Amino acid sequence: TSKNMIAKSKQESLKIPHTKKTKFVSFDGSIEIVSQHQRPDRFRNLEQIPKDVIRIGRGGGYSYAAPSFGKNILTQEMTSFNRILEFDAKSQTVVVESGVTLKELLKWSFRKKLLLKIQPGHPDITIGGCVAANVHGKNPHKDGTFVDVVLEIKLFHPDHGLMTLNRTQNSDIFELTCGGLGLTGIIVSVKLQLDVLLSDRMVFERTAIESMMDAVEFFKNNLDADFISSWHDGSPLKKNFGRGVGYEGIFADGFKSNKLIMPKKKALTPFSRANLPFSIWNKTTAAITYSFYRKREITGPKTYERNVFDSMFPFAGSAKSFHLFFGKNGFAEYQILVPFNKIEEFVNDVTKLIKIEKPPLIVIFMKPFHGNQKYLRYSGSGITIALDFQRSPITTKTFSKLDDIIISYG
Ligand SMILES: Cc1cc2nc3c(=O)[nH]c(=O)nc-3n(C[C@H](O)[C@H](O)[C@H](O)COP(=O)(O)OP(=O)(O)OC[C@H]3O[C@@H](n4cnc5c(N)ncnc54)[C@H](O)[C@@H]3O)c2cc1C
Repeated sequence: TSKNMIAKSKQESLKIPHTKKTKFVSFDGSIEIVSQHQRPDRFRNLEQIPKDVIRIGRGGGYSYAAPSFGKNILTQEMTSFNRILEFDAKSQTVVVESGVTLKELLKWSFRKKLLLKIQPGHPDITIGGCVAANVHGKNPHKDGTFVDVVLEIKLFHPDHGLMTLNRTQNSDIFELTCGGLGLTGIIVSVKLQLDVLLSDRMVFERTAIESMMDAVEFFKNNLDADFISSWHDGSPLKKNFGRGVGYEGIFADGFKSNKLIMPKKKALTPFSRANLPFSIWNKTTAAITYSFYRKREITGPKTYERNVFDSMFPFAGSAKSFHLFFGKNGFAEYQILVPFNKIEEFVNDVTKLIKIEKPPLIVIFMKPFHGNQKYLRYSGSGITIALDFQRSPITTKTFSKLDDIIISYG
């Protein structure tokens, strides 16, 4: 459009210092855009950008979608803001720059036998990204969402400079920034509440789950676990649909090792995720794999231990191939938080839809949630259901039908 062209020519003529052109790709593989990219390594870099340049903050780039880049938009990637600034042992609080990753923070806090209790599933996600997406961890029913561990934020806004945000100072902007997808400004540093790390290991128990509603019962019986989730076969085949395994985990007692054990291999990036030229996942391979995997899981020992790193970041270790197998064409996730009193109706509607449309739904993940929804924040009380599909025209059609179902609930 002409508006875009004006914005583009404006940006090009502005000659933004220390920027380059970069090809960005969303983790789900759906969006690829070349745009201006800067990796600021000092506060001055944030101030140097002319005020009329449209910009957006970026952390590790692990969002499934593309909220950290866009055509004719300057992306300020904050990964060089990666220092741990202050620590108060008494209150177990830490101030970190926004580009510190979950892995780096865990490496540091493990030595102090402390833990950030809300951690999404990939180790290279940054604290800035956790704030901006108001992420959830292993039991959002027990622990809430990321806003619940954020005490204060330092935010850079082109018109207002460096701002301090907390629950008493600029509280409205604090609320908007937690879950605000970077739209309120650049998050520079964050003060976080940590918790005591009870062990270097977690103890898990597997439970065979027959249906999505069966998982809801399973969650209700384990709401206080440190880790709770389930996966379900998404295959539209009558026999298999909704069958899965539930996992409940609690921290073990004491430390076996004072060293944090981490996988040697790097976790997937949005680029390496797309390494395979074709998708291994399709309706048939998913049905076979998950049926086999379920059998193996439920006939194996009922309880088992995992070290903290693998418990926090399963997608960096044992479950790494899950995303890789979608290949270059990528995947599409539909995630919805359903209130407890609507869950049965919603599960019935979704089951019907999947059986009629027969989309390439590979797997379904579920977790219980507790919290208050506000602004753009993904939070509330109920069950979060994530449906992961192979990307295809039938998937797109199914998404719009899912939208219709959700809208019909009001
Ligand atoms: C394998 C995998 C597992 C995941 N598991 C979970 C999970 O269990 N729970 C969950 O909630 N999420 C999960 N996610 C999603 C992930 O937690 C979020 O997408 C998170 O925002 C990614 O952080 P990032 O540092 O990569 O940010 P990016 O992807 O770079 O950016 C995400 C958003 O944050 C903004 N942003 C980032 N840094 C800043 C900053 N310094 N200032 C201003 N804005 C900023 C961006 O503008 C953008 O809107 C998972 C993702 C992957 C790939």
